[in-house]
Amino acid sequence: MVRQVTTTTETRARQLAWLIEQSECTVALTGAGISVPSGIPDFRSPGTGLWEKVNPMEVAHIDAFRRDPVRFWSFYRPRLHSLDGIEPNPAHRVLAQLEQRELLEAVITQNIDMLHVKAGSERVIEVHGSIRTGSCQRCGARYSLAEIDELFDGEGVAVCSSCEGNVKPDVVLFGELLPADAMADAESLAARADLMLCIGSSLEVYPVAGLPSVTLGRGGSIAVITQGPTPFDPDAAVRMDGDVVGDLEAVLAAL
Ligand code: ZN
Repeated sequence: MVRQVTTTTETRARQLAWLIEQSECTVALTGAGISVPSGIPDFRSPGTGLWEKVNPMEVAHIDAFRRDPVRFWSFYRPRLHSLDGIEPNPAHRVLAQLEQRELLEAVITQNIDMLHVKAGSERVIEVHGSIRTGSCQRCGARYSLAEIDELFDGEGVAVCSSCEGNVKPDVVLFGELLPADAMADAESLAARADLMLCIGSSLEVYPVAGLPSVTLGRGGSIAVITQGPTPFDPDAAVRMDGDVVGDLEAVLAAL
């Protein structure tokens, strides 16, 4: 039984390696699943860590930030700290190596954790922003993660040091639009890609979930490497649903 599973993974990895070698422009699209082996829970999985006692749609919503920044920060400040200490895993590193070998053009990610950059990927499009910085919602002043930590007032709200406006992490909260320039980059990459590697994403959150359709629409292929079903499974040239690290390492080994 185990042998059979392994053979299937190897066969699919070889198929995907072949597609990568044939492709002139390959792009990766990553979601929460690629960061789970680093210890960051996917909030869609029940009973995990920080998301266990709160509804993220409620507390990490732009309206919650505006209405009740004390409550927002009581949830989000520990989250920023916990994410800051986390290291990339071998799945992130495989993508960095593919880029170094000129087999991967860019990574488009829904993740805010900066782990692709920490793993050495150079062209990373963070369509949901990142925890790297925060911005004053009144004057636009931008602060690094370490600087934000110095801005908290007695109530636990990050307050701009020049205008006393509220400082928000530069991540896309629920209810917010995605950054237009990052989405434009992502869409133009998707439109040029011969191959899109969709990794660790259920491909259900729009507009990012529309990117594989852009690649398919221009005659490109997609590979889906994630656990659990996605709406794009019938369109996938290669479908891998094992452990994301094992799957990506098998693809790298086959190249
Ligand atoms: Zn300000």
